[in-house]
Amino acid sequence: MHIELTEMLRCPEPHREEMLVLSTGEVKDRMVRSGILGCPVCHKEYPISRGIVNFRRSHARVSKDESGPRPAYAPPSPLPSADAASLQALLELSGPGGYVVLVGAAVRQAARLAALMHGIHFVGINAPGDMEEQPSLSLLYASEKVPLRTAVARGVVVGADLATSPWLVEAHRVLLRGRRFVVENEEPELPIGLIQLAAENGLWVGEKR
Ligand SMILES: [Zn+2]
Repeated sequence: MHIELTEMLRCPEPHREEMLVLSTGEVKDRMVRSGILGCPVCHKEYPISRGIVNFRRSHARVSKDESGPRPAYAPPSPLPSADAASLQALLELSGPGGYVVLVGAAVRQAARLAALMHGIHFVGINAPGDMEEQPSLSLLYASEKVPLRTAVARGVVVGADLATSPWLVEAHRVLLRGRRFVVENEEPELPIGLIQLAAENGLWVGEKR
């Protein structure tokens, strides 16, 4: 996790938003490889290991030790993968700076989007298991709540695997007003209040009013 992302994070518990307290272990090139994020409100602690912050509730926590042997070969996602250039166009992002949130299988777009959009930092939520963090990509694990403060993202892309109502509510919450979010599914399970701009070529596009 990029060290500067700390100020954008929030505890996923349902209480007021307050900045988390970072205790760093190993830090390399401004990426926190290990450490702990503590919540000053409810005092929960979230570990950072191999650069990935784990906000999952303890029963849903994925531990390398408990998950058993990993398959030697992970098949590629069967879901259609959107073209990074069309994603960039739909997000209407120009100019560097800020954060773009990618959820689920959409995290696979990070490297291609980063090549098109310099100076933007990507936040990957529940990335496919074989992915590693990059200088332009921080990875977080979460349970149905994006652990980011409200209205901090310049854009959000939700992968087809997580195009369900709770994640779309969260995608909408973390987005800045007037900004776009794209779902890799033309007919996502939409919560009330989300406004559609377009749905074509397997992508659904909305805007936060
Ligand atoms: Zn808390």
